[in-house]
Amino acid sequence: MSRILIVEDEPNMRLGLRDNLEFEGYEVDFAEEGNSGLKKILENSYNLVLLDVMLPNMSGFDICKSARRNGITTPIILLTAKGEEIDKVLGLELGADDYITKPFSLRELLARIKAVLRRGELVSSNQVSEKTSTTVKIGKIDVCFSTYNAFSDGDQVQMSHKEFEILKFLYEHRNKTVSRDDLLKEIWGYEENPTTRTVDNFILKLRQKIEKDPNHPQIILTVHGIGYKLLES
Ligand code: CA
Repeated sequence: MSRILIVEDEPNMRLGLRDNLEFEGYEVDFAEEGNSGLKKILENSYNLVLLDVMLPNMSGFDICKSARRNGITTPIILLTAKGEEIDKVLGLELGADDYITKPFSLRELLARIKAVLRRGELVSSNQVSEKTSTTVKIGKIDVCFSTYNAFSDGDQVQMSHKEFEILKFLYEHRNKTVSRDDLLKEIWGYEENPTTRTVDNFILKLRQKIEKDPNHPQIILTVHGIGYKLLES
């Protein structure tokens, strides 16, 4: 049974989500404000976190950032309010896996939850079948996709769950062109949002971490009008 943590300060939203998710067969835990939310994420193990952005004491963004810095790879779906377009991109860059804008339908939320949980399972089963527990060298970093660790000259490189997934997908298709649409479909799992610009932002961040000179990339090349190609180093 998948265990979901809801971090949400509005009682109606929190209780409504809890009832509906329990009805769907999920085990649900919840926190009512930021500090206790982060504490629960750090101390317990969940399959998924639904994280409100505007929270008392600590914002959803700060919780997300802090969780990732502490090595927590649990998938996070942000609950954002309408008109927080910029915040969505920021949230993804801080390590969230997806976001959903309030007000949302239960049906839409359940679809997102299932997609994120399924991706998590795919990652784990791929890890077993492909024996990706070995470390591979990509540019200036050494990456282990099964433990979500990356090192540069022995120092840990901070990378979000999403950045690992994108890098892994590019690596699995190395020396071939991967389109932005392929990445959106594979990594985000649905086609409406986010935009291809989001993909480009993630690629920029990855280049900062793996390229010797990010302004003149030698590893993740841009294929104009289509997408990207990762060259084996
Ligand atoms: Ca709130």
